[in-house]
Amino acid sequence: MIIKLKKDGQEADRLILFDFFKKNKIPFHYLSSEQIVITPRHTEIELVQDFSAVDSYIAIPTNYKLASKLYKNKTVVSVNGTEIGGGLFNVMAGPCSVEHEEQIFSTAEFLASKGVKFIRGGAYKPRTSPYSFSGLGVDGLKLLRKAADQYGLNVVTEILDLNVLDEVMNYSDVLQVGSRNMHNFYLLRELGKVRKPVLLKRGFQAKVVEWLLSAEYLLSGGNSEVILCERGIRSFDPLSRNVLDLGVVPLIKELSHLPVIIDPSHGTGASSHVIPASMAAAAIGADGILVEVHPNPAQALSDGDQAISFIQFDELLNNTQLLLNALGKHTDTQTSALKTPRL
Ligand code: PEP
Ligand code: MN
Repeated sequence: MIIKLKKDGQEADRLILFDFFKKNKIPFHYLSSEQIVITPRHTEIELVQDFSAVDSYIAIPTNYKLASKLYKNKTVVSVNGTEIGGGLFNVMAGPCSVEHEEQIFSTAEFLASKGVKFIRGGAYKPRTSPYSFSGLGVDGLKLLRKAADQYGLNVVTEILDLNVLDEVMNYSDVLQVGSRNMHNFYLLRELGKVRKPVLLKRGFQAKVVEWLLSAEYLLSGGNSEVILCERGIRSFDPLSRNVLDLGVVPLIKELSHLPVIIDPSHGTGASSHVIPASMAAAAIGADGILVEVHPNPAQALSDGDQAISFIQFDELLNNTQLLLNALGKHTDTQTSALKTPRL
């Protein structure tokens, strides 16, 4: 149950309610920023409705509450003026890893020339092998920020570990939580306290409910700016790196108010599959994509097989725009297209 407290209510009245919960051993979570109280069950409705502190309440039968569509209809995340989940299809792009100055600056220049608003790039990489390239660390963050600033882009980068939270906070606009960390509840709790949007990837073996509960960790900590990202789940067939679960988009749209984007790169693992997967993401109603682009995919230090070239990115953008335009929608790169009347 979510109990909305009276906005101008008295502290003493709130304490009476909290005391009642404590005495009756009813677990509760007070989110002061929203003036709400969350209880894991919803059987206490008759009990709380007469308390002076209570304004209204919503019975939410699922374990995730704040992430539920019953609580809120829509979340639009705003990043320096660009909206995510606001109706335009966001195209976030960049290399898997920040590798060197020339690589990241040429990518930023190219993306900006295409109207892209978000550059991605990892400085701390969660690699399966300890011998693989694991990113440039803080030097990578600085390069990414410098390139983004030079070309007016927002930075999306992964926060792998709380030890480097301050650095990642300093140099980024959106914090990415990777697939491997979706279950890292300590990390999620800390990111609930920060004032920066979090892009939460789905764990590659996570059920949708588990994913929404991870989002709940962020929301219940007070961070309401959460973007979900489907990046493929592990299956039995070695022919594809992952199985891109596109059906999750309409499902999430039914269950939650959070924006949901697709990562067609990790989702397929093959550069030749990235364009059709991106078009499919647009067709099925995703709020955007997060795609790996590299100036020279063959030379990429991580995830080269799935990185698309600038030429392929051009094709991706054209095809996706054509498709979206036919549906009366637009990418966030098409600022001029917004002025044309809808068909
Ligand atoms: C990435 O975006 O480069 C990445 C490591 O993604 P994931 O966590 O989905 O594997
Ligand atoms: Mn990658």
